[in-house]
Amino acid sequence: MYELYKNAIVTGSARGIGKAIAMKLAKKGLNIVVSDIMYDEAKQTARELEDFGIKAIAIKTDVSKVEDVENLIRITVNELGSVDFLINNAGITRDNLTLRMSEQEWDIVIDINLKGTFLCSKFAAKEMMKNRFGRIVNIASVSGILGTAGQANYASSKAGVIALTKCFAREYGARNITVNAIAPGFILTEMTEQLSEKVKEGYLSQIPLKRVGTPDDIAEVVNFLISPSASYITGTVINVSGGLLI
Ligand code: NAP
Repeated sequence: MYELYKNAIVTGSARGIGKAIAMKLAKKGLNIVVSDIMYDEAKQTARELEDFGIKAIAIKTDVSKVEDVENLIRITVNELGSVDFLINNAGITRDNLTLRMSEQEWDIVIDINLKGTFLCSKFAAKEMMKNRFGRIVNIASVSGILGTAGQANYASSKAGVIALTKCFAREYGARNITVNAIAPGFILTEMTEQLSEKVKEGYLSQIPLKRVGTPDDIAEVVNFLISPSASYITGTVINVSGGLLI
């Protein structure tokens, strides 16, 4: 990790992949802002992270609300001094076939997954530009590349996240801010636990590595992308799916 840069925001990190990312980065010595819509769970995660001897703050944030995101960045700068790393992980699904998908199901997924990534990146980048350093990692999905049936809202939001990754990478590269995305495949978390055994087996049969992914599989790649080893990588999408997407 970098000697000078120590402060990371991980959105949606009260549980699941975000929590695994927060744990991994805390173990590496980074201070963590646990930003989540679920405040009690976020506070609990922050307490667990402090066991690694770092500073951890829980901030209640709905990433789709501009005032929440401005607040998130303001408190982070006030309490920790800077925003060096941003992991845009908060995301939801509201699956339905397009003919049955309501406008509300469409809007909420686009608002949280895509607009949320835009807002957090925009306000964090403002701070990163001042320091001429920043690392942003967006958690997209293989759905955004494959276009999965029953997930028009989700797949479109994640395709948008991949496009945003490239736009931000081009706009902020000159300020030493790298922006990359990870496209996870099927990862076992509370988001995917609700799926039927039949759907889970369907995914498994298509994964060449013959196992579902773990949140830690994603956290490892985030750890790499924000490390000095990846300082010449920007605008990429890393597919972490056990071969589900080849
Ligand atoms: P998860 O277990 O549902 O965790 C997501 C976290 O984000 C939850 O704590 C959730 O709170 C929070 N959140 C929801 N809406 C929010 C908002 N508006 N503002 C801030 N936080 C919010 O999901 P996960 O499986 O860890 O997924 C994490 C990311 O990976 C998502 O972007 C997801 O699309 C992506 N991903 C997951 C998989 C997979 O197989 N699991 C595959 C590909 C990509 P609530 O519980 O209140 O909603």
